[in-house]
Amino acid sequence: MADIYIYSDKPDVAAEITGFVKREKKKAILLAESKEAADVLKKLGADAVLLISGDGRRINDYAEAIAGLTKAKGGLLLAVGSTVAGRELGASVAGRLGCAMISDVRAARFEGDVLCAEKMTFGGAVIHAEKMSGFGVISVPAGVFEKADPAECGVEEVPLPADARISLIKTQPVVKQGVDLSKAQKIVSIGLGVNKEEDIQIARDLAEVLGAEIGCSRSIAEDRKWLPDYIGMTGVTVKPQLYFAMGLSGQIQHVFGIRDSKLIVAVDTNDKAPIFRAADYGIVGDLYEVVPMLTEAIKKL
Ligand SMILES: Cc1cc2nc3c(=O)[nH]c(=O)nc-3n(C[C@H](O)[C@H](O)[C@H](O)COP(=O)(O)OP(=O)(O)OC[C@H]3O[C@@H](n4cnc5c(N)ncnc54)[C@H](O)[C@@H]3O)c2cc1C
Repeated sequence: MADIYIYSDKPDVAAEITGFVKREKKKAILLAESKEAADVLKKLGADAVLLISGDGRRINDYAEAIAGLTKAKGGLLLAVGSTVAGRELGASVAGRLGCAMISDVRAARFEGDVLCAEKMTFGGAVIHAEKMSGFGVISVPAGVFEKADPAECGVEEVPLPADARISLIKTQPVVKQGVDLSKAQKIVSIGLGVNKEEDIQIARDLAEVLGAEIGCSRSIAEDRKWLPDYIGMTGVTVKPQLYFAMGLSGQIQHVFGIRDSKLIVAVDTNDKAPIFRAADYGIVGDLYEVVPMLTEAIKKL
C-alpha cells in the first residue's frame, strides 16, 4: 500500500486528510512534532504516527529531514493542512525534493498513483482540475474532507535532525483573542458599512438573539482594528449554517472564505454589491434600520 505522509498542526484537519487517504485505500502516516501531538494524532484513524521530535521547535526546522524521510521510504504524497506551518513545511519539502505542489485543494482522488485534484483560483472564481504524478505535495484547508473513523494506532519515534542553522531561543504562548470562527455554526459579519466602532453593538444584538459569533471583513480587522479575526481568502475560512453579512460588499477575497456557508443573508444599501451574488437572501437597505428591526422581530419569535 502506498504511503501518504500527513502533517497538520490542527488535529481536525489531520483527521480529515486521514479520512481522504483511508477512503483512497492508501496508508496514512501522521507526522507528530511533539509527544502531546502524537497522543492526539494516534486516535484519528491513521495507520501510524511518526514522532519526529520533542524539542518544541517549528516543524519547518525539520523540512530537510522530512524530505529525506519521505524520499527514502518511497512515499507517494505529503499532504499538509493549509495553515501557516503546514504550507511552510509543504513548500520547503517540495522545494528540497524539486517536486510538484498543489496548494489549497478542494477535492482530490487517486487514479492509481496519480493524484487528481481540484483547487480554486482567481479568488475562488475558477476551479482548476489538475493531475500530479510522482511524489508531490498538497495542502488542504479545513473542512474539505470527511474525517476518518476514529481508531488508535501505534506511535513510532524517529528523531530527525533539525536545521542546525536555526536555534530556538524561547517560546512564549500568545493570548488568543476572540472565538474560533471556523467552527461557528452562525456568524453575523460586519463590513465598512458599519460607521463607528460602537455600532458593532447592532451586530452583537442580532448575534445574541441568533446565538451567533461576530465576524468581519479584512478592512474592519486590519484597517480599523475593531475585531481580531477576519473572514476570507487570507483570513479564516468559515462553513456556518447561517452567515449574515451587514454592510459588507462581498469582494471576491471575502466570498472565497464564506462560499461553503449553508445559508447566506446580506444587508447592503447598494443593490449592485457583489455580496448579493453570493447571498441566498438579500435585503437592499440601511443596516442601521434593517438589522435592529430584524433583531426585534426575532426576539418576538
Ligand atoms: C490580496 C488581497 C487579499 C484580501 N483578502 C481579503 C480577505 O480574506 N477577506 C476580506 O474580507 N477582504 C480581503 N481583501 C480586501 C477586499 O478586497 C475588500 O477590500 C474588503 O473585503 C472590503 O471590505 P468591506 O466589505 O468591509 O468594505 P467595502 O467594500 O467598502 O463595503 C462596504 C459595504 O457597505 C455598504 N454600506 C455602506 N453603508 C451601509 C449601510 N448604512 N447599510 C448597509 N450597507 C451599507 C456599501 O454599499 C458597501 O457594499 C483582500 C484584498 C487583497 C488585495
